[in-house]
Amino acid sequence: MPYRREIVRDGHPVLRKVAKKVHPEELTDPLFQQLIDDMYLTMYEAPGIGLAAPQVSVSKRVFVVDLQDGDDSHGPFEVINPKFTVTEGEVESSEGCLSVPAMIGELPRFERVTCVGIDRRGQKVEHSGTGLFARCLQHEMHHLDGTLYVDLAKDVRPVESDRPGSEGDRPGSEGDRPGSEGDRPGSEGDRAGSEGATPDADVDAMERGRGDAAVADRGDSSPVSA
Ligand code: ZN
Repeated sequence: MPYRREIVRDGHPVLRKVAKKVHPEELTDPLFQQLIDDMYLTMYEAPGIGLAAPQVSVSKRVFVVDLQDGDDSHGPFEVINPKFTVTEGEVESSEGCLSVPAMIGELPRFERVTCVGIDRRGQKVEHSGTGLFARCLQHEMHHLDGTLYVDLAKDVRPVESDRPGSEGDRPGSEGDRPGSEGDRPGSEGDRAGSEGATPDADVDAMERGRGDAAVADRGDSSPVSA
């Protein structure tokens, strides 16, 4: 039975280590197979679209991905000892991270990548894509190298600040954060013209349906929470 593992947060040293390569013999270890089962469950329950082993305190080079957008090529799959063989283009977009909850920020990533590695049975795998999918792979790879997106991002901010209409979803939240608008003077002006995209720039929104993911696949404004 898979079980949900604790996702460690920024500040935990395991997130800053370069994760160790998985030895092929480890694939036959039931505990390693259990780790992968647990990572899928933990990712789905978070919810997120990707999860790297260091995020559950295991410093090994393995991550799981599932964009959950109805496209089979977008997961679910695991990649062990991943490497990029193709990196092309550049696009800036929003990301979030399960280890930095409720925050998003902007950073550039390669627009298209091809990632190779092995799966849990030891078979060679290759995953190629663009947009959110490519971004997710790069985000997970960074976890394996001890880097968090917040190290590279600008304008890291609470998710709520991007969702002007979100207060209605959490009645009473206004009272919990009196004066929060005042903490971010000028934030509206900094993103003039981005209003049309902001409802998608929410970590949770991505998980709500295929519509959000379809937007994300254009590689524009949707974040990765992974
Ligand atoms: Zn992450």
